[in-house]
Amino acid sequence: MPKIIDGVYFIPGQDEMMPDSHTYVLGNVSSEDLSLIDPGLAGKGRYKMESIKKMGIALKDIKRVIMTHTHFDHIGALTEIRDKIPEAELWIHTLEATPIERGDERTVYGMEMFQQMCQMQYGFKPGAFTFRVDRKLEGGETIEIGGMSWEVIHIPGHSMGSIALYYKPKKILIPGDVIYADYAIGRFDLHGADGAELKKSLMRLAKLEADILLPGHNRIVTKLRSDYILETARQWEPYLV
Ligand SMILES: [Zn+2]
Ligand SMILES: [Zn+2]
Repeated sequence: MPKIIDGVYFIPGQDEMMPDSHTYVLGNVSSEDLSLIDPGLAGKGRYKMESIKKMGIALKDIKRVIMTHTHFDHIGALTEIRDKIPEAELWIHTLEATPIERGDERTVYGMEMFQQMCQMQYGFKPGAFTFRVDRKLEGGETIEIGGMSWEVIHIPGHSMGSIALYYKPKKILIPGDVIYADYAIGRFDLHGADGAELKKSLMRLAKLEADILLPGHNRIVTKLRSDYILETARQWEPYLV
């Protein structure tokens, strides 16, 4: 199901030994002002771009890449995407944009052991994930992209600079790795993660009316129960301290 609604397109992650995040494309195609959310795992750039082209979307119409957060399974394919769309801007929450600009890759890899594993498997050199960020998001702003207004919500806890994108007219929530289908939430043991913050972030999301949940992994949900986020937060509450 690549098209969720007009202006919201879904390219499922293709997990290997490591997970590949889902990629979403936002914006009315006629606007020629599209946004790509989360490129995905290293090596998955070609698959994502081929999928986008198959949907009839021209790569040159993608004007920016927005990161829900900068973990390796979301940002790993960024270089592959930018090689093909070099003019596309990069938008990241300020708390993860600053490390990315400085070449601080602790959030990208999350933990040292994982860093060594990824660098060995994919041949990344230290500093490979150093990028200039064109727009640093704060949370609380509404961004006008591709003829649609999306709210940016800062939801730290899984990582410092995690954001959700929320499209009120159709009650669509893109929460990155903070909450998934089936009462699952993102892990909170990696660099910059914080269980108590994650609880607050879940409670913030629970206040939204969301009918469609488009998370970073696993299945998407198109008819979300109204109390789903709150119930998920409650189930996890004892662990989120
Ligand atoms: Zn992820
Ligand atoms: Zn993550």
